[in-house]
Amino acid sequence: MTALALFATGVGPRPDGAFWTTAYDLVLYNAVYVGAACVCVLAARRAGRDRRAWAALATAITLGLVGNLVYTLVITRMDVEPYPSVADLFYLGYYLPLYVALVALIRARVTRFHTSMWLDGVVGALGAGAVAVAVMLGPALELTDGHTAAVLTSLAYPVADVVLLGLLVAAGAILGLRGDRTLLLLAAAIIANLGGDIVFLDLATQGIYVEGGPLDLTWLIAVTLMATAASADRTAAPAGGSATSRVGWRVVAVPLACNVASLVVLALDGGNRFNSAAAWLAVGCALAALARVAITFREVRAYNAVKAEARTDELTGLPNRRALLERATSVVAEASPDRPAALLLLDLDGFKEVNDSLGHHAGDSLLRQIGPRLVPALRGGDLLARLGGDEFAVVMPDATLDAAEGLAHRLRDLVLQPVTVEGIRLHVGVSIGVASTPVPAATVEELLRCADVAMYSAKTSRAGVHVYVPDPRGGTGDRLRTMEQLRTALGRDDQIEVHLQPQVDLRNGGVVGAEALVRWRHPVRGLLSPADLLPAAEQAGLLRPLADTVLALSLSAAASWWPSQEVPVSVNLSAANVTDLDLPGKVAQALVRHGLPARALTLELVEDTLMTDPERGQQVLGELRRLGVRTSIDDYGTGYSSLTYLRHLPADELKLDRSLTHDVAAEPRAAAIVRHTVALAHELGLSLVAEGVEDDQTAAVLADLGCDVAQGFGIAHPMPVADFRSWLAEARGSRVG
Ligand code: C2E
Ligand code: MG
Ligand code: MG
Repeated sequence: MTALALFATGVGPRPDGAFWTTAYDLVLYNAVYVGAACVCVLAARRAGRDRRAWAALATAITLGLVGNLVYTLVITRMDVEPYPSVADLFYLGYYLPLYVALVALIRARVTRFHTSMWLDGVVGALGAGAVAVAVMLGPALELTDGHTAAVLTSLAYPVADVVLLGLLVAAGAILGLRGDRTLLLLAAAIIANLGGDIVFLDLATQGIYVEGGPLDLTWLIAVTLMATAASADRTAAPAGGSATSRVGWRVVAVPLACNVASLVVLALDGGNRFNSAAAWLAVGCALAALARVAITFREVRAYNAVKAEARTDELTGLPNRRALLERATSVVAEASPDRPAALLLLDLDGFKEVNDSLGHHAGDSLLRQIGPRLVPALRGGDLLARLGGDEFAVVMPDATLDAAEGLAHRLRDLVLQPVTVEGIRLHVGVSIGVASTPVPAATVEELLRCADVAMYSAKTSRAGVHVYVPDPRGGTGDRLRTMEQLRTALGRDDQIEVHLQPQVDLRNGGVVGAEALVRWRHPVRGLLSPADLLPAAEQAGLLRPLADTVLALSLSAAASWWPSQEVPVSVNLSAANVTDLDLPGKVAQALVRHGLPARALTLELVEDTLMTDPERGQQVLGELRRLGVRTSIDDYGTGYSSLTYLRHLPADELKLDRSLTHDVAAEPRAAAIVRHTVALAHELGLSLVAEGVEDDQTAAVLADLGCDVAQGFGIAHPMPVADFRSWLAEARGSRVG
């Protein structure tokens, strides 16, 4: 800036002498270029989205600088100044990186750069070039009578300026970048260049250009404007840019205008040299525009197809999860307490059986029949989507909970109608969860989660339809937050832990096992027990990953004492684990990983656990026992149909529930039940563990009644792994019991 101002003082009359010429034309003039190049280099080194553009611009300015030096130091010192000269090579070279810079700037401002955008630039540039050559330059050159080379060189500068300007204006208008400061500054720079080049064209072709005049200011202003654009650029991340929409009249307006202009040029062409150049430019422009139209047509068609495909479920033709999420997002945004909206989550019952027994083809055919059946029941604005598998959802804008529940019942009745799949009449059920927004769910995620929780309740209670009601104890937010936090906790290694409670032999006091009981060291709520975390894990569908974590923690604990003391560890399973066909494989791998034999692990399950899917449960348990892992029936005496299960359940151990053991010292009836259960267990080849032993007296009575093993606060409370190891080491010295 300072150099520019100083140079400006010398454009009029200036002191004579070689010193002043050098100071002005060599030092000050080029100082502006050097400064501008430095600013661009600095901008390129900042991590912004336009860094490549600034690097190119720095190159352009450097080429200009070299041109200046060559011109001032070599050309002006010759007796006869040649024109064009080597300096012009650099000056013309300057336009190449400038073009690259402009394209880079435009590219950074659109999310996707289409082929058509290049063509838009070409159409704009050719059209503008045609008009410029015909209207401005043709007449200007007719006045001069310079050499062809000189004329062509001089012509090249303004034409290049016009082409770049055309590119910028066309792309800017099409992409809606009118307010972009960086591009505006560069456009101003090119206009300054253009002004200078037009005057220069006139002077140079007549051979009367002198260095250091006011004309030189135009180029310096141009360079300064470029540097300003670079230094003002503070865009950090490569954001999507403001121009994402390419739909509307804007897309065609500028190419169309350029085309019309070039057609006018063609029509007015008088046949002289320069107008024929203009005519060729116009023809090029028209051809490029034709190509552009063809490409636009293809792009729009492809765009629409892709857009529709991305939002459609392939199998059923219904909107898919993405479409549903988009719709739900706008519905949630518009919902208010006076105008609530709702979401229904539908999950078919018995779909798996159809798939398993009749094959996937039948399953697919069933899924395809759901949409046509349900859609007629929807209201105008409702959207039915398939989320995946046998899960569907309906978003209902502007719907009360009652309206949503009403629709849920109607949809359920429709699904319950018999379906014909491959000639077979079938009945499938559906469980529907209903949730509303903005209360209790304020976001799409919460809405989906609430509907999921409700759907799950509908499924387990077999009620068919369940409306999400916030938990009076914790509130929706709390329950949902707990589920989310548990998900996070399972991904880390510092929050889930197991506490170990010893089991001792009632005859000799030896330690024969340790039960692993899960604990969650919650960062805010402190140490949480299974009663707090298991329901959340179940609702969030996290029981399997939880079991994996507990298994790994338990086995790694056992591995730490196993070499010196062979005390097995017991791990509790829930229904979701026992029906997991992968469980035996996972257990086998975990044992190998920890270098433990199968007898180091006992798996406990409560008898009701097997109720969900007895056949599969027995298969899983059978495989585990074949591995050599022991199995134990936990809380025995609290469930129902105990005896039937005892008959079929492959197990090694029976754990008598605390409710049956803790009164044995005082109550003869309790003692009778224990005595006979012991006899039953031993008859079946099972060892009997008494749970909840809280004092020595009870332990003694249980030992008399024939129980094999005792576990309870009377022996030790569950404790962290490190404490248990010390306890174990001590117990080894002095037998407990
Ligand atoms: P459980 O398997 O019957 O475990 C014994 C429970 O009784 C433990 O409660 C233990 O702390 C408690 N207990 C032990 N001795 C006494 C006593 O003398 N008196 C009394 N009043 N209580 C005693 P906890 O740790 O709260 O576990 C509760 C239940 O949670 C367990 O009952 C088990 O069914 C389940 N559970 C624990 N850990 C896991 C796990 O990792 N996975 C699964 N699926 N369930 C688990
Ligand atoms: Mg247990
Ligand atoms: Mg128990």
